[in-house]
Amino acid sequence: MHAHSIAELAAGLRERRFSSRELTAHYLGRIERLDPSLNSYITVSAEAALAAADAADARIAAGDAGPLTGIPIAHKDIFLTQGLKTSCGSRMLDNFTAPFNGTVVERLAGAGAVVLGKLNMDEFAMGSSNETSYYGPVRNPWDTERVPGGSSGGSAAAVAAGLCAAATGTDTGGSIRQPAAFCGVTGVKPTYGRCSRWGMVAFASSLDQAGVLARSAADAALLLGAMAGFDERDSTCASEPVPDYGALLADDIEGLRIGLPTEYFGEGLDAGVEASVRAALAALEQLGASILDISLPNAPLSVPVYYVVAPAECSSNLARYDGVRYGHRCEAPKDLEDLYKRSRTEGFGTEVKRRIMIGTYALSAGYYDAYYLKAQQLRHLIAGDFRRAFEQVDLIMGPTTPTTAFPLGAKTDDPVAMYLNDIYTIAANLAGLPGLSVPVAPVDGLPAGLQMIGNYFAEGRLLNVAHRLQQATDWHRAMPPELD
Ligand code: GLN
Repeated sequence: MHAHSIAELAAGLRERRFSSRELTAHYLGRIERLDPSLNSYITVSAEAALAAADAADARIAAGDAGPLTGIPIAHKDIFLTQGLKTSCGSRMLDNFTAPFNGTVVERLAGAGAVVLGKLNMDEFAMGSSNETSYYGPVRNPWDTERVPGGSSGGSAAAVAAGLCAAATGTDTGGSIRQPAAFCGVTGVKPTYGRCSRWGMVAFASSLDQAGVLARSAADAALLLGAMAGFDERDSTCASEPVPDYGALLADDIEGLRIGLPTEYFGEGLDAGVEASVRAALAALEQLGASILDISLPNAPLSVPVYYVVAPAECSSNLARYDGVRYGHRCEAPKDLEDLYKRSRTEGFGTEVKRRIMIGTYALSAGYYDAYYLKAQQLRHLIAGDFRRAFEQVDLIMGPTTPTTAFPLGAKTDDPVAMYLNDIYTIAANLAGLPGLSVPVAPVDGLPAGLQMIGNYFAEGRLLNVAHRLQQATDWHRAMPPELD
């Protein structure tokens, strides 16, 4: 059952070949049996899932079911889920039970999706390997000695291993697309503002965006359609109407103009990854697309710009964890300063502390102009590169990541090497553009991804092109070896 698409599962439910309770129990059984070798879940909510499955079965029986009714999914542990622990991968929130549902969670629940539990992630979504999680690293189902990518590593690993039908994720600099590429699943990071950030723990508010990890573009379209749309509780949420993504999937792609940025095919790109990406591009040409070389001259600056902007915003967002309101509080504080200091020292891990310190420094008087202001100016130039490129082409494509998944521990001592994983993904976040990663031919047995970047609110076109590629090829159907 876990190899089926959501549409196939929904048909099975509709035709009473199985119930949502049976389907949910099937996934819960797999989690119990297989997740000890992956560590993709932080919390499994078996009882609540079975109750939601019964409610979905009642809706199906009453003829009141949508395409997601009774489908078992899971949420990245960054989304607030009422009555369920929401840790954000941090000791700071290990004792935190969310008092309400985030908008994305609420909308998927309204569509009848069943929540199996909460997925592991890098602490506060800071990382590219899932190794900064307080709950330990997630392992890549294709090779358990390797990382699944991050920060939505639990989401990518769980979808790849068939431990949920699809999952939510968030992407601030690549955290949906990079783990999707490493685990061989389809990942969509929508336009900034497409999905509400209400009830999503904040990392870098001008970059954070909720999205989906799924087995195919068609599955992702179903979830995104349910999640997206205006929410008055998030002032940066877009009022742009949400198209019926499913209805756009089959559109013809004859005449599609694809731009390949020279900056995304240079030094540092693994030859095997490049060959697989080029094979996928050739498949799109077969479907009638044409390919053009373009340039994003400022894109190479995106990693340094991001590592000023994102830490600056994180230093401000994470100031709320003070040991007073909620989250970790140290034992027997001497005074207020001791309470702040020890609660934060104990609650945050190394990477989070590094970012808070960089951000606080970059924002301090005397350095603000040199770092933060300069980074914002460069961010503007990066967005301008895309604006010019989209006058010439419809979509921009290239590799999602420079290499396939690396071994656990390989980059933990070298933050800059770790940061360079996102060299091709970060620019889209800085510009606020939608991006998607689809599996291409494996490289030495490991998944790799083709990244597609679209203009603002072009999610429908991205999903359409990804779907047409997935109809013509079967790279996305590959499943990792069954764990035991
Ligand atoms: N890997 C990047 C970082 O560590 C991006 C993370 C993300 O997108 N949440 O910040």
